[in-house]
Amino acid sequence: MYQEKAEYTVYMPKDLKESVIEYAKENYPNEIILLLKGRLEKESAHVESFVIPPMAKGGRTRAIFNMNLLPPDRSIIGSIHSHPNGIALPSSDDLLYGLGPIIMIIGLPSEIRAFDKEGRELNVKFL
Ligand SMILES: [Zn+2]
Repeated sequence: MYQEKAEYTVYMPKDLKESVIEYAKENYPNEIILLLKGRLEKESAHVESFVIPPMAKGGRTRAIFNMNLLPPDRSIIGSIHSHPNGIALPSSDDLLYGLGPIIMIIGLPSEIRAFDKEGRELNVKFL
């Protein structure tokens, strides 16, 4: 479905960064998860908006949603979820179940980091 790329730089507008952090804080101590909509280029991923996944449920340990309800959509380039414990590193489940090539994690209160499905950290630039 997706071409595997070794490395991306992820670009996210600053206002999106601020709004997703705000959303994560509002839902603290529950996790939030949103899909990343945007486009992939050769070595860059551009986040343009967020999509609330179907049947999203915040949980203390894991935000879940039903992937089967999602139509195939090439503009979904990954997902972003929060770690209320503040540690913005992917768990093995995050890498296993991550949707799309870009896995972004919010470490509350204000950090956002990005990883590929191998768990390698990607550069993130906020524009
Ligand atoms: Zn996680």
